[in-house]
Amino acid sequence: MASYLDNDIKYLPGVGGQRASLLAAEAGIRTLGDLLHYYPFRYIDRTKIWRIAEVTEEMESYIQLRARILAVNHLGPARRQRLSVTVTDGSASTELVWFRGVKWIEKKLEIGREYLIFGRPNFFRGAFNMVHPEVESVTAALNRPNGSLQGVYSTTEKLANIQLGTRGIYNLVCNAWKLCEERIEETLPDEIRHAYGLIPLRDALFEIHFPQSHEQLRAAQYRLKFEELFGIQLHILSRRSIRLERANGFLFPKVGELFNAFYHEKLPFPLTGAQKRVIREIRNDTVSGHQMNRLLQGDVGSGKTLVALVSMLLAADNHYQSCLMAPTEILARQHFASISRMIEGLPIRIGILTGASKTKERNEVLKGAASGEIQILIGTHALLEERVQFADLGLVVIDEQHRFGVEQRARLWTKNRQTPHILVMTATPIPRTLAMTLYGDLEVSVIDELPPGRKPIKTVHMTDAQRLALFGFMKREIAKGRQIYVVYPLIQESEKMDYKDLTDGYESISREFPPPHYLTTVVHGRMKPEEKQAGMRLFTEGQAQIMVATSVIEVGVDVPNATVMVIESAEKFGLSQLHQLRGRVGRGGEQSYCILMSGDKLSKEARTRLRAMVETTDGFELAELDMRLRGTGDLAGTQQSGMAFDLKIANLSQDNQLVELTRRAAEKCLQNDPELIDPRNALLKTLRDRYSTSAGRDYSMIS
Ligand code: ADP
Ligand code: MG
Repeated sequence: MASYLDNDIKYLPGVGGQRASLLAAEAGIRTLGDLLHYYPFRYIDRTKIWRIAEVTEEMESYIQLRARILAVNHLGPARRQRLSVTVTDGSASTELVWFRGVKWIEKKLEIGREYLIFGRPNFFRGAFNMVHPEVESVTAALNRPNGSLQGVYSTTEKLANIQLGTRGIYNLVCNAWKLCEERIEETLPDEIRHAYGLIPLRDALFEIHFPQSHEQLRAAQYRLKFEELFGIQLHILSRRSIRLERANGFLFPKVGELFNAFYHEKLPFPLTGAQKRVIREIRNDTVSGHQMNRLLQGDVGSGKTLVALVSMLLAADNHYQSCLMAPTEILARQHFASISRMIEGLPIRIGILTGASKTKERNEVLKGAASGEIQILIGTHALLEERVQFADLGLVVIDEQHRFGVEQRARLWTKNRQTPHILVMTATPIPRTLAMTLYGDLEVSVIDELPPGRKPIKTVHMTDAQRLALFGFMKREIAKGRQIYVVYPLIQESEKMDYKDLTDGYESISREFPPPHYLTTVVHGRMKPEEKQAGMRLFTEGQAQIMVATSVIEVGVDVPNATVMVIESAEKFGLSQLHQLRGRVGRGGEQSYCILMSGDKLSKEARTRLRAMVETTDGFELAELDMRLRGTGDLAGTQQSGMAFDLKIANLSQDNQLVELTRRAAEKCLQNDPELIDPRNALLKTLRDRYSTSAGRDYSMIS
């Protein structure tokens, strides 16, 4: 159904061809409707005016000043001029700076006149300035029609360069609103709106862009968030009911020889209660007749690998093959080695396939998988390749799932005539509400218990000045026979410098810990796979006491004798990454330590992160804090995984109650009409399908 809002943005006054294509590329805005659904990400309270003398470093957000211009100066060389404007409000004075659009800004400003100034203060030696603030004369501000809240729109440098900064976008929204305000059709059924106290769409869109009060803004946000989460839930639940309706899951009814022999003869330790429970859950799924779709969540070191192995043995007992996909070469090799060790002597054949597999080895593995001789195949992305074929793939296990893109994962499910059972394992704790939305139609299992005898890891934060003390501590641990990781961050933008830090660090450690008494090995992403493996092996086999590495070791490496994790430039890592890294130690019975190294100048956020690491080892707590600090952006590495849905307004870290509420609302709507066939449910169907169109990016788990 075509609507006025589907009209191309380029015909909107103030847009045109060039701007339209940048709006599409940079912000995904193609139509009038897209623009109206491009919401401000924050609001400035225009009633609050700060005195310059009151502004302190603690205030990180935007502020508003009311001040008079004292002087306008051009600074810098002619070609790269900047404009410096001194303003005062009687309490103190401050500087406003522009690097771009100098001429244009200068024309707007008049010495002696009073302006309202919005911007983010920048501190330098106790004083502050503002770069590229918004200025508006007080008289103009007084004549402004809207309420006291001013929306701030996100923008990009390219957009800002064509005068589509936050203000420019705001102006376009105003133009669009004038054209569209009478043509906005309601998208939610009246019963739903009344039952949940939601304002009409038209009002919500008006208030979200031009809020008349805090209260009305809240009502608008509530309505729009509700709609978004509700639509997603409708979509997820219908997928789920389709999956459960079809009885097309492979059956693993038999608990056979392999499982029993392993369980009774091979298992080196008793399973934890949590491991047993999860294995039972998987058992239930694999005899239900439905295809399993399970997310296994367990903190680092909780013993997920064993659960995977037991499940794969069950598959083999029932004559199905399994594969286990790991995100890195190192991890795949390590799984292969430890699983080989654990099942030694059992009548089962396992294979490994990675990008580094030699041709001969590869061909053998491919043949074995295709004929069914190989019952468990372990590997990396290489498993996804077309030429990897199975005789009868019944179970796919994906380790540390957030490392894989959604589409990549989906390719594995198509390797059999019907979708195999899927077990996705992650150490990143995912709050339930997030799991319900992000990962769509998944059952969640949790290992909430660590194997017995583990001592909590002690975490300390040290600065570069304490390096000597650190070295002394390392020596004492090594003297006790322990091993140590030293990890350097690797950030794409400054990769060169990071590698330099790593090599410098490696050299200084080798100097401090000289051979033959000590052996230090180094492992990083630029090494050839064989070199990497050799470097790893020195450490896993205990010859090297120290391993210097980039965060490649972040996932899954298991060396129980390692008791110290030194994280260099710890302030550059996100919380969940730090937690993952810390989980590399504390795997044996010995007291383990995590040492966070940083310089002494830290941003407020970095300080909060490091403090949280020192104060808690609870991965769940850290994940929640991470979400609060960074938004959901980094959670579960969503950037890499390609979130199933892009959320425009709902915020999964804040709106968990709303997720639950919309889930129940959607369940109710689907109860009597699961496929939304009834014409009275037409609006709901449209809403559901709005999210189905992005289903290409969702788990395609339905065969
Ligand atoms: P993760 O969940 O991080 O993948 P792993 O599967 O690598 O954890 O297990 C971490 C370590 O704990 C391994 O050395 C493993 O052998 C050991 N482990 C697993 N389960 C148990 C258990 N029930 N009791 C004792 N140790 C266990
Ligand atoms: Mg693991």
